[in-house]
Amino acid sequence: MALVPAEELRSASLGNAVVAVLGYGSQGRAQALNLRDSGVSVIVGLRENSPRRSRAEEDGLRVETPSDAVAGADLVAMLVPDEAQPGVYAEVIDSRLKPGGALVFAHGYNIHYQLIEPRADLDVILVAPSGIGEQVRARYEAGHGTAGFVAVDQDASGQARSRALAYARALGEGRVAVIETTFAEEVETDLFAEQTVLVGGLTELITEAFSTLTNAGYQPEIAYFCCLEEVKLMADLIYEQGLASLWDSISSTAALGGLQVGPCVVNEQSRQAMREALSGIRGGQFAADLAREGREGFPQLEAARKRLREHPIEAVRRRLRSVAESEGVGPGGDKMAS
Ligand code: NAD
Ligand code: MG
Repeated sequence: MALVPAEELRSASLGNAVVAVLGYGSQGRAQALNLRDSGVSVIVGLRENSPRRSRAEEDGLRVETPSDAVAGADLVAMLVPDEAQPGVYAEVIDSRLKPGGALVFAHGYNIHYQLIEPRADLDVILVAPSGIGEQVRARYEAGHGTAGFVAVDQDASGQARSRALAYARALGEGRVAVIETTFAEEVETDLFAEQTVLVGGLTELITEAFSTLTNAGYQPEIAYFCCLEEVKLMADLIYEQGLASLWDSISSTAALGGLQVGPCVVNEQSRQAMREALSGIRGGQFAADLAREGREGFPQLEAARKRLREHPIEAVRRRLRSVAESEGVGPGGDKMAS
């Protein structure tokens, strides 16, 4: 594993560089605040009409238009949504970022699939926290950090790698672990995990198992609890203990059942589908599909979202949640914040 040595991180510094953070959503807010609290000069770039302006100002940050923020910066952190980035690069960055400046991404999609082709004099780096923005900020405030991946796509200054390390350190990643990767590896593994496990796999497993039970006449409320809510309990255990000690702590009944049935449900056909998903990601077919879907206004995504909203498992969830909330109980049985 390409773990960056702690002493190398400790010596990485952004010096007097000014960082423009474009966007103030999940990552933008977390990164702007962590950088500032690490002593870096930060300007947040937000459009005049952006509803996030007042939030950034209340957080004590300097806010300018994206164009002005970029013009005054040495590094630009691209923290607007991935689909907005090519437009923001073309309209705001390409003609304004100073020669020798650096473009910092939290996800490598637009560079990897060449939807943005940055000027040759710019450094192009990836500093990708392995967590959602809210965690990146909360862990920094608690004195810890969030692990992160760094990569260099274009090294015009000869300093791109040390800039990436310094940026990662200022985000707090050096307190945990900084791992070197490439844009290709970060993007391809991220998409693959979303497709096969986190989004595609989990959604299909949960809804198909729920339907199998309810079609066989079991109560939907019972099917909902065992096929959906308990996923969180298992995910927490896997995260805390790992798979092996999870298998040590579950009952023999659960273990034998899992042993017999897991490999039948996820089988050679599923492995073949995983290999095909990976080759669609690597060959660019998935990126082409996403671009076409976007041009058409995301009709397939809208239809899928509508199907899920109307799925019987959602009706059960709404029913159960409204009963629980009327008793002041939030998800997982926790008392709701009032
Ligand atoms: P987000 O949707 O939470 O926030 C986007 C921000 O950009 C908002 O403030 C929005 O108002 C602003 N914005 C939108 N269009 C704009 C434009 N044209 N010009 C200026 N500002 C604009 O986005 P996010 O989830 O923080 O994602 C930002 C980047 O971070 C993406 O590359 C994403 O892949 C990556 N990332 C996100 C997470 C996460 O925790 N959500 C984790 C890892 C990587
Ligand atoms: Mg992702």
